[in-house]
Amino acid sequence: MLIFNTLSRAKDTIQSKEGNIFKMFICGPTVQDNIHLGHAKTYIAFDVLARWLLKSGHKVFFVMNITDIDDKIFERAKKENVQHTQISNRFFNDFLKDIEALNVVTISKIERVSDYVKEAIDLIQIMVSSGKAYALEGNCYFDTSKADHFGKLSHQSDFQLRLKQIDAAPGKRNSVDFLLWRKMSETSEGVLECALGTGRPGWHIEDSAIAFSQFGGPYELHGGATELIFPHHEAELAQDEAVSGEIPFVSIWMHTGLLLKDGEKMSKSLGNMITIKEALKSHSADAIRYYFLKHHYRESFNVSLEELKSANKELDVIVEASKLLPKRGRAAKELKSLLEKETFRKFAHAMDDDLDTPKALGMLTKLAREIVQTGKDSREKDQIQDPAPLFWHMVETLGFGLF
Ligand SMILES: [Zn+2]
Repeated sequence: MLIFNTLSRAKDTIQSKEGNIFKMFICGPTVQDNIHLGHAKTYIAFDVLARWLLKSGHKVFFVMNITDIDDKIFERAKKENVQHTQISNRFFNDFLKDIEALNVVTISKIERVSDYVKEAIDLIQIMVSSGKAYALEGNCYFDTSKADHFGKLSHQSDFQLRLKQIDAAPGKRNSVDFLLWRKMSETSEGVLECALGTGRPGWHIEDSAIAFSQFGGPYELHGGATELIFPHHEAELAQDEAVSGEIPFVSIWMHTGLLLKDGEKMSKSLGNMITIKEALKSHSADAIRYYFLKHHYRESFNVSLEELKSANKELDVIVEASKLLPKRGRAAKELKSLLEKETFRKFAHAMDDDLDTPKALGMLTKLAREIVQTGKDSREKDQIQDPAPLFWHMVETLGFGLF
């Protein structure tokens, strides 16, 4: 299978190393509010990737992080006059309900960053002792000049980077040196005391801490939406390689296009978001999935409620076909004979080619139409038993619940 790798700017072959286990890490949400359709677009894409890898015979170890230590959470807690854990717990639980409702079921582990502070501190200390990070007035920064070409993920030259600022502060060695540890007053919320001083770990180090703990070393794929490429993933990559000395530490960096609303990114901060809860009131989870899978995952596009509405309709033929067929469960047994089938080969080819879900979905819809047509032409239901394994295989790969 090929996946477009942001790092190489080419479609690279997916490979599991140890014991056929494909390890993937996807950046999850900050639990400061309910997740919205933009999140759903991303998580559904990675859910389909994991489903297809499983169908293709890989074992998948899929980790997602939850950012539950963040200024936005502390601000909201202050506004509502509650403990910050009350905010993070509330939205963490809502998040779990939302992704379950969306049938995103392939995630093996959901890890909260507040459980990895000690691990983050350990990584920072490794980088300080190897001279890849430095302390500055109680803060700690990563020295980007010590990285194996900082900017290689976002494809920016040193000249371009010099014009950028990350975590601006006087005295930093390079303008894009980023915070690993942020000094805070002892009275601040979520503050910690350690050898690095009083403060909190930076945002980027949290994912590295979880990845090192869960995977123990290099892994296959790290993903998220394109907005995370710089500085978040660029910083993560630099840390991972600085700590481990392994280059590359992550083989493939996979990014999903953004969901826009009137040309702007859908986000909490812009106040233009449609939450999953709201969306599910008028559209089924399958329709939301259908709508996103009709677009390639790398595409950024404007959300269209019209298109979402028509997805509800277009899904009907798949639902209708599912009712005419014997129940699922036979798919696995009969898969072998499918390998001979032209449609299956084409479907597999589309999925293998950088997850071409628009094409794959088109094939499922075409098959569903044929099943429905045959069902109408003949009263002999036996006649339509043959496409059942293929149909269910496609439905399960794309992740429709068809409840
Ligand atoms: Zn992240």
